[in-house]
Amino acid sequence: KNTLLEVKGLKQYFPIKGGFLGRTVNNVKAVDDISFDIKEGETVSVVGESGCGKSTTGRAILRLDEPTEGTVNFEGKDILSLNKKEMRDMRSEMQIIFQDPFASLNPRKTVKMTLIEAMDIQNVVPKKERTERALEIMETVGLQKHQIDRFPHEFSGGQRQRIGIARALAVNPKLIIADEAVSALDVSIQAQVLNLLQRLQREMGLTYLFIAHDLGVVRHISDRIIVMYLGKIVEMGDTKSIFENPQHPYTKALLSAIPVPDPKNKSERIFLRGDVPSPIDPPTGCRFHTRCPFATEKCKTEIPVLEHKDETYAGQHDVACHYAIDIQEGRHKATHDMKNVR
Ligand code: SF4
Ligand code: MG
Repeated sequence: KNTLLEVKGLKQYFPIKGGFLGRTVNNVKAVDDISFDIKEGETVSVVGESGCGKSTTGRAILRLDEPTEGTVNFEGKDILSLNKKEMRDMRSEMQIIFQDPFASLNPRKTVKMTLIEAMDIQNVVPKKERTERALEIMETVGLQKHQIDRFPHEFSGGQRQRIGIARALAVNPKLIIADEAVSALDVSIQAQVLNLLQRLQREMGLTYLFIAHDLGVVRHISDRIIVMYLGKIVEMGDTKSIFENPQHPYTKALLSAIPVPDPKNKSERIFLRGDVPSPIDPPTGCRFHTRCPFATEKCKTEIPVLEHKDETYAGQHDVACHYAIDIQEGRHKATHDMKNVR
């Protein structure tokens, strides 16, 4: 399959101004040198705690915030070099759905106005076909045609997310970035919206970049998973490989936090100490060392490279940990008691 999106060496630093002349005194290193790609028709999820840089990554790809460094290629085109007009055209190819559609929908506009406005801005559907197209999309996302003249407050949370999806689809995109698109919904509604997104993917050949804090939510929809911690990718690979054979202690901790329905399934639980450190002065070496139960002196000074380790353990994925294989083979034990069996 063809590569649709290729991100290379992406950095997003937000300057902190201060001092006497309001100079940049430091930077929030929200995303710090990450690379990955997404193939056509694939669903890739970026997962991590809040502040790991996952939403920032999504925004940087769309240039909602201008990236500090790196390249973003879409269908082989370097989108960071596009001018305003070219970028506006490009936006019809890449759409975003937000966590809270209520906040992103104009309360004074009916669904019809919202959908037609999206088509007007992108100008991808002929003018006299826009109403017809809007009605069609309503049905596609599981809303009823007669609801098209209603306002956002007349819909439930799940329905509003369908409107958000409809708005994204209105301009015929190839890539949809879903930033915590189902996080605010009840579990049963979550499942409905995820099913809808999967059906739309099959029918329309869409490619998804899913942003989520919960590995459990994205498990069944993702082809591949990228785990981020404090602006860096710590592990990346096939969903099956990540779930069955996680290599990074942070991924293991995230996985062990997913409730297990079967109490006989005694998985090793890794508890993390403390909170995510500040991205202003992230820890040296491995950024995870302040919370990692396996950290050594080496971890405090040497930055682990994201790389493919031994086939036997790593399967189809890459990991950034000095001791990934040693931990797996039992040669490297936790240096403090942060493990438990539940
Ligand atoms: Fe933990 Fe060290 Fe591996 Fe980082 S490199 S995850 S601190 S063991
Ligand atoms: Mg976020």
